[in-house]
Amino acid sequence: MTAAPVLETKGLTIRFGGLVAVNDVSMTVPEGQVLGVIGPNGSGKSTFINLVTGHLRPTSGQVLIDGTDMTGAKPWTIANARVARTFQIVKPFRGMTVRENVAVGIMYGPEGVGRMAPALAAADEVLGQVHLREAADRAPGELSVADARRLEFAKALALRPRLLMLDEVMAGLRPAEIEPALALIQRLRDEGLTIVVVEHVMKAIVAVSDQVMVLKEGRLLMTGPPNEVLADPRVIEAYLGTKYAERQGKRDA
Ligand code: ADP
Ligand code: MG
Repeated sequence: MTAAPVLETKGLTIRFGGLVAVNDVSMTVPEGQVLGVIGPNGSGKSTFINLVTGHLRPTSGQVLIDGTDMTGAKPWTIANARVARTFQIVKPFRGMTVRENVAVGIMYGPEGVGRMAPALAAADEVLGQVHLREAADRAPGELSVADARRLEFAKALALRPRLLMLDEVMAGLRPAEIEPALALIQRLRDEGLTIVVVEHVMKAIVAVSDQVMVLKEGRLLMTGPPNEVLADPRVIEAYLGTKYAERQGKRDA
């Protein structure tokens, strides 16, 4: 018997009034794989994450974590199933230091240590993983864009997830800042973590993804290996419009 995929959705759909933001998406992520999620702005990427993590309830369809139906479960229930996520709009606790922000996750997470001293020590370890140790005593509000994203990443890691969902953690980073973020994702994957990466930076998607899923207007356009997906005329068209895809077609003919 093969193990159930860490994440599976079946016909996942959510309507906001007349808009179907995620439309009949069925997909799986096997254990230990990195799934890249791409798609134009507004194609439903963040909404997809929100549906998996319980921040939104689907209109129809199912979310299965490790083969268990978790459809409609609350965010803390999903977190207890060892699913952690970052938010595209960073959400630190403002009254706490960077270290305390991470320690809270360690204390109250699924493997919660319950005591502050060991949690603070463990927080420093997680901050080291994201290269943010030097900023441990600072207030989140003082951080640069890049460092605020690192903190968001660290808060998710502090929950010791099995499935990690990253929503544009590299947005606004300079190329030199992207490399360490990619290296971290690759290392986490090597350690056996299953990861869903929503990202606009194509180079990043190609570098870390085993499979890439493309959303367009809420629908699953295609899934495949990164280089195949990025070369697919349907994907080029989704990003750049029909004209460009036609021109590419003529050039290749
Ligand atoms: P992406 O992350 O791919 O840029 P989103 O998932 O944020 O796209 O949004 C997909 C669509 O759903 C957009 O048209 C957005 O305006 C809409 N949307 C997202 N969340 C809500 C909500 N809570 N209420 C109404 N519309 C929403
Ligand atoms: Mg988004």
